[in-house]
Amino acid sequence: MNDPAQAQVDRSHGLMALLAKGLIESSAQRTASSLGDRSRYIGMSDIGRALECPRAAVGRKLFGHGDDLHQHDLAAVLARQLRLQRGHWFEAGITQVFRQQRLPVIEQLEIVTSHQGVPIRAHLDFVFASEVGQPTVRILELKSCEQIPPTLYSSYETQVYGQVGLLHALWGQPAFGVHVEDSHGKAGLTFPQICRAKLGIEMPAHPSTVDIEAWVLCLSMSDANAFGPYLPDDTMLGLCLKAAEDLWNDVEASRDKGADLDDLPTAQGFHPLCSWCEFNADCPKFDGLDQPQWSDTLDLLKDLKARQGEFEVEISEIEEGLRTAYALSDVGGSWINAGSHRFRVSAQNGRRTLNKEQLRLELSTVLGEEKADAIIARCEWEGKPFDRLTISRINKRS
Ligand code: SF4
Repeated sequence: MNDPAQAQVDRSHGLMALLAKGLIESSAQRTASSLGDRSRYIGMSDIGRALECPRAAVGRKLFGHGDDLHQHDLAAVLARQLRLQRGHWFEAGITQVFRQQRLPVIEQLEIVTSHQGVPIRAHLDFVFASEVGQPTVRILELKSCEQIPPTLYSSYETQVYGQVGLLHALWGQPAFGVHVEDSHGKAGLTFPQICRAKLGIEMPAHPSTVDIEAWVLCLSMSDANAFGPYLPDDTMLGLCLKAAEDLWNDVEASRDKGADLDDLPTAQGFHPLCSWCEFNADCPKFDGLDQPQWSDTLDLLKDLKARQGEFEVEISEIEEGLRTAYALSDVGGSWINAGSHRFRVSAQNGRRTLNKEQLRLELSTVLGEEKADAIIARCEWEGKPFDRLTISRINKRS
């Protein structure tokens, strides 16, 4: 006899599998149409990644993003695909905003060049250009994040320094084009030529009189912050080009000369990239023993932690509801009895905290910086060392 509960689980799983398949296919299609064959050149995001973890960057170049339809951990595939594709969806939404505002913007500007025989391409999300007053160029790179970081990740900074450096350095060369998904767009133009073709404006033949800046706009589902400005900088561009050269050489050595991926340096210490990395299953950074008997315990812990988050949301919703009910009851500070419990809402003083920076400033004014630092150091103490349990997902490839 059919088990209705199991049938429902099967149908739900089928729907998730369908979604995962669609996400993987649309991601591959979008990447091919907008970025071309990424194994044949080094992009700016490759450079950023290589500076964080050469092994992961070379792995990506050799094997792509890694998700396929035969992987068993559907939840992990969905989580990774949703995370990867969120950026494209944000980009489509922001594009719509800029189009509606009729801003002078070139979308998906591509810069094609080579350095020491290494093919390099930069894809710039948005480039605004104006000839009014002092000619101005603003590059805007979008990044989608779970949470907005307090400072910009160095991989993003490297990427945007590469973009603004290449735009400045190749300004008068036929290195610029535009990727449009369903047409070939313009290609092989100088920057002033592409501004004329796309925006109908005349930019100077040389960038020396142009105010050029790049910015990174970080977006989460409920927050945004802009980081910048990043200006053309020869040293930073040189660093990017050198990183591109090193990465290309590492990719060629692995692909053509059989060099071992595991001999490449890995990201050091705790790194957020590792949880999502497609090559973490056999990464030497996580060398260890096999003890499969702990697998169920770790799965259970993961489920409990996920439910802990759900409980916290539910608890705060119920508490909020009770606060509102109390306010509407107008009982003047009395308790409300309800079955075997009672509740009331009362005003409390805010928590008092010590502003360490302000204290340091005040002490410095009276005693001087050195004495202020010494007093603060004497009043600080470190807690006892403790054992931290770290659990990290293994992304198995089929
Ligand atoms: S798991 Fe971490 S260290 Fe290992 S390749 Fe991936 S990103 Fe690099």
